[in-house]
Amino acid sequence: MLTAGLDIGSTTCKAVIMDGGETILARSVVPLGTGTAGPRMVYERVLEAAALTRADLDRVMLTGYGRFSFEGADSQMSEVSCHARGIRHLLPTARTVIDIGGQDIKVLRLAATGMLENFIMNDKCAAGTGRFLDVMAGVMNVKTTDLGPLSEGAEQEVSISNTCTVFAESEVISKLSSGVRLEDLVAGIHTSVAKRVAGLAHRAGLAEDIAMSGGVALNTGIVKALGRELKHDILVHPDCQLAGAIGAAILARQSNSGT
Ligand code: ADP
Repeated sequence: MLTAGLDIGSTTCKAVIMDGGETILARSVVPLGTGTAGPRMVYERVLEAAALTRADLDRVMLTGYGRFSFEGADSQMSEVSCHARGIRHLLPTARTVIDIGGQDIKVLRLAATGMLENFIMNDKCAAGTGRFLDVMAGVMNVKTTDLGPLSEGAEQEVSISNTCTVFAESEVISKLSSGVRLEDLVAGIHTSVAKRVAGLAHRAGLAEDIAMSGGVALNTGIVKALGRELKHDILVHPDCQLAGAIGAAILARQSNSGT
């Protein structure tokens, strides 16, 4: 059975096509969120990548913040349910999942069966989210994707005291003009994000294994800084940003078969 899972995020759209809920046939990530051309583009691109048409798919399931604003799918399910299912597929030993997306941070606690036990979320403020890192990268005139590699070159981390995005932006500008090394500043920004995220993770309660998902998990500097703060190794799967879409594609199959 061929299923597609589309995760319409606040900043990024993700899609996968799976065969039998097991094998990923194609993936697509479009850095545009809900309310843009992103949802349509990600769907077209994933079909193209799989050399399939809509008619070839048995079921299409939507998830993500913008799941109610896209037509043409068979069903929809919450981000948290799809995410938990996707992580169980990618990293079956994960019991705590820290998901940092474009605009929110979620911490999921999973039972050994993969069932969701606890869940907390911070979506009131950009601090600690992908948006915070995107803004800081913009101020430093680097790409968000360069942040991880840049932090590798840190010699003496420059700490950032403001967690508020607006104040931190001013602080970064003033540190840059005082002549600090970019690498040291990036490392400080990562530590500041990691401290905030670790506070949320402790509130949810940590259980091993600990995994990260969402687009920000692709930033190796954040993964390392969070590992240091939590004093635990953190698992990251290369498809970490696709966890919600993968969960949707798997659950689409189950809802069709009535299981
Ligand atoms: P959402 O579903 O909330 O839209 P995602 O989980 O897709 O968000 O994550 C989007 C965030 O991930 C963006 O802030 C983006 O900057 C960040 N991101 C995506 N790819 C990378 C990368 N390779 N390195 C660092 N950050 C990344």
